[in-house]
Amino acid sequence: MALVSRGSHHLKPGVANSFDQQAGNLASLVRSYYQRGWVPATSSNFSVRSEDNEDWIVISQSGKDKEYIASHDFMLVDLEGQCIQPKGAKPSAETLLHTSLYKNTEIGAVLHTHSLDSIMAAEVLRENGVISMQGLELLKAFSGIETHESTIDIPVFQNIQDMKELSERVLHSFSKSGWPVGYVIEGHGIYTWGKSLAEAKRHLEALEYLFNFHLRRKNHGGH
Ligand SMILES: [Zn+2]
Repeated sequence: MALVSRGSHHLKPGVANSFDQQAGNLASLVRSYYQRGWVPATSSNFSVRSEDNEDWIVISQSGKDKEYIASHDFMLVDLEGQCIQPKGAKPSAETLLHTSLYKNTEIGAVLHTHSLDSIMAAEVLRENGVISMQGLELLKAFSGIETHESTIDIPVFQNIQDMKELSERVLHSFSKSGWPVGYVIEGHGIYTWGKSLAEAKRHLEALEYLFNFHLRRKNHGGH
């Protein structure tokens, strides 16, 4: 039985339990990303769709140190990025980049890091606005890809500080070319997602590995 009716902004008993558990799972994942150097200096943000209401998002609050992030560093927002709880919590400036993706009802989790390899890949591997990667077994980490002979294209967008404008550019591009498994913002970092947190995690790890491989190959004189 749903504890909270769709669209309601009234929290009822039981909501906090799902919130704490979802935020806790996300927090422990994010702490591991700190150890990998992907989320330095309070950067980056992470979210999952609430199990209590499909129009709510559990997302990291602004400015939290990812080395120590815990469930109380998350908050609930609606699909417009407005705070639901806790009262007065400050959403990240990039909340709109998350919430706009969740309007695609297939998406259950969005992960964003400032990893150096994603930024470097956009600098040195981009051709015609995308980073193309192919030839590795790990491409099979992406749903629907069944052979290493596949290619994935990760679009690159210019970094701008107007998040509404940036989210509109991103969604407009996807509406024309189809949804990729992620995208990179120049000089900034990567966004990726999945139906579940487990799928989004798999996508992020695979993309980081693929960026790293293609960058190393380029360093060694490959293409
Ligand atoms: Zn960012």
